[in-house]
Amino acid sequence: MKAMVVRGISPVEGKLLELVDLPDPIPGPGEVRVKVSACGVCHTELDEIEGRLPPSRFPMILGHEIVGRAERLGPKVTKFKEGDRVGIAWINWACGECSFCLKGEENLCDKAKWTGKDVDGGYAQYTVVPQDFAYPIPQAFSDVQAAPLLCAGVIGYRALRLTGMQDGKVLGLYGFGASAHIVIQIAKYKYPRCKVFVFSRPKQQEHQNLAQKLGADWTGATADTPPQKLDYAIDFTPVGMPVREALRNLEKGGRVVINAIRKATPIPELDYAEHLWYEKEVKSVANVTRRDAQEFLPLASEIPIVPEVREFALEEANEALVLLKEGRIRGAGVLRLPE
Ligand SMILES: [Zn+2]
Ligand SMILES: [Zn+2]
Repeated sequence: MKAMVVRGISPVEGKLLELVDLPDPIPGPGEVRVKVSACGVCHTELDEIEGRLPPSRFPMILGHEIVGRAERLGPKVTKFKEGDRVGIAWINWACGECSFCLKGEENLCDKAKWTGKDVDGGYAQYTVVPQDFAYPIPQAFSDVQAAPLLCAGVIGYRALRLTGMQDGKVLGLYGFGASAHIVIQIAKYKYPRCKVFVFSRPKQQEHQNLAQKLGADWTGATADTPPQKLDYAIDFTPVGMPVREALRNLEKGGRVVINAIRKATPIPELDYAEHLWYEKEVKSVANVTRRDAQEFLPLASEIPIVPEVREFALEEANEALVLLKEGRIRGAGVLRLPE
């Protein structure tokens, strides 16, 4: 099979992912081999390639927003049959036995394996997944549209849930890329009387236009002061400064949720009185659970979410990653694999 592999840590501008031929993976007991048709490009890949969250081995096939068809079943597979459309997300396996797994927090499992970090992912023609960690994809979505739902969508759904959002309140979104453009659609559907304020980098008029099209009640630059305090905020950005900005604009008793695995720059020093006092809270989002995916995918179909997608060929993964880093992809970038 053809795959784009990463062989070591480097800046993404070096474009060092390499197109190679590899043997097709063989599914073990309970595993499904998936012929990949689309794989989303996520910020986490930037963290992996640049060493903030290095893969557990090299070479590694990145990619954890995977849509394809079950093509070969390992022994004892009962949940899928050949030809079924399946999705694969960031969580690839969890132990099921630790204290976190037992209380439904498998996203915090110490032994968990992550797709495209600990096991080969979707920047390839084939990949293998345990049947318990694959999901049916609602019919409403094409393969390419469904791909970004599997990380940007699922983790955005989790982040919104962790805010404790209620209808009629004000939600601030810092950064408006793949995840935020889905979250605004969930928020406007579930909380029709809420207001959503969108903050993006000053020159990203494209992102602000998309936010307005999707119902944003106000858009501005990251350092702007919005017309009302924020009851909740989600920070999707790869840098530290917006966390402090969100806390500055937060209403008393409000909560900022940080939807990032790593930050490329530190969070600036906080002033206790200005940024934290009055019972303001900060919470991070770590990974996803199967429940997040199982709840979100049908909801996405019901709303229905309309993902804004820009397609790339598999061999254009390096270019897609550079554009992502520069904030130049409107919506979500997706690699499309040949039939
Ligand atoms: Zn991701
Ligand atoms: Zn566990």
